[in-house]
Amino acid sequence: MLLGVHESVAGGLEKAFAHADTHADEAIQIFTKNSNQWKEPNLSALSVAAFRAAHAAWGGRPVIAHDSYLVNLCADRSDMLDRSRAALFAEMERCEKLGVSCIAFHPGAAVDMARGPALDLVAESLSGILERARGMKTRLCLENTAGQGSSLGWSLEEIGAIIERTGTQGERLGVCLDTQHLFAAGYDLRTPSGYDAFFSELDDKIGIERLTAFHLNDSKKPLGHRVDRHEEIGMGEIGLYPFWRLVNDARFDRVAGVVELPPEMAIPSLRRLKDLRGAPEPQQKRLVRPLELTPPPPKATRRATS
Ligand SMILES: [Zn+2]
Ligand SMILES: [Zn+2]
Repeated sequence: MLLGVHESVAGGLEKAFAHADTHADEAIQIFTKNSNQWKEPNLSALSVAAFRAAHAAWGGRPVIAHDSYLVNLCADRSDMLDRSRAALFAEMERCEKLGVSCIAFHPGAAVDMARGPALDLVAESLSGILERARGMKTRLCLENTAGQGSSLGWSLEEIGAIIERTGTQGERLGVCLDTQHLFAAGYDLRTPSGYDAFFSELDDKIGIERLTAFHLNDSKKPLGHRVDRHEEIGMGEIGLYPFWRLVNDARFDRVAGVVELPPEMAIPSLRRLKDLRGAPEPQQKRLVRPLELTPPPPKATRRATS
């Protein structure tokens, strides 16, 4: 697996690659705009050129863009639905210009709608967006969710259903798997049989070749808790075993895997993931946070992304 972290773009999109150098990332994730606002950035030819040059200088390694959190591809209000569809298409256009190969996005929340029709509406949205984006190289990658509230795409069945219902355009969809969200949704990869069974079920329902990226996050909350709370690798409820399997799984050698945490937790996590590569099975299930390193609450609860 190509390992890295979600990097800041403060001061310009191309700044991400300076951080990538410092942190020795092999892949990164970024936001191409403010993820909590609808406002679309003004991407000048100059900033596109700066980004492309810095990306090339960094060896052209994989970059994932995380889509805005406001997008809901099954919004029941038509103005919100149009806005969401336009925003995801704009993200694709921006990533195409920048040469970013993958966009991780959350399908949406059903809110008051029944799940069946909501999944249909997500698929209809995707089919339209992909039709408009015909010929683009940037790949849309559905991210599995923690199943918090009415959010869709928490199970392999729901992700499979969205892809299938997107029709012929669905062939172009990739998948981004978040390990914390999987665990929150009740998938237990902490044993050899659990790990193997999960990926064979994934292969049946989605196709393992669709896996374009991983979000590698441990979990603050227990199995099946349906809450999106990331923890440092090895220090949460998931523990070291599944991460040891993932970084040594030859099927994912060319797949990007990024940690989504604030830097003070992401960088030690990245180092730990790299240490697991080629190492024997870890004897310890879970690491204990040294007391002197216990971060103060405000910073510890801050998240880079979800
Ligand atoms: Zn999350
Ligand atoms: Zn994620």
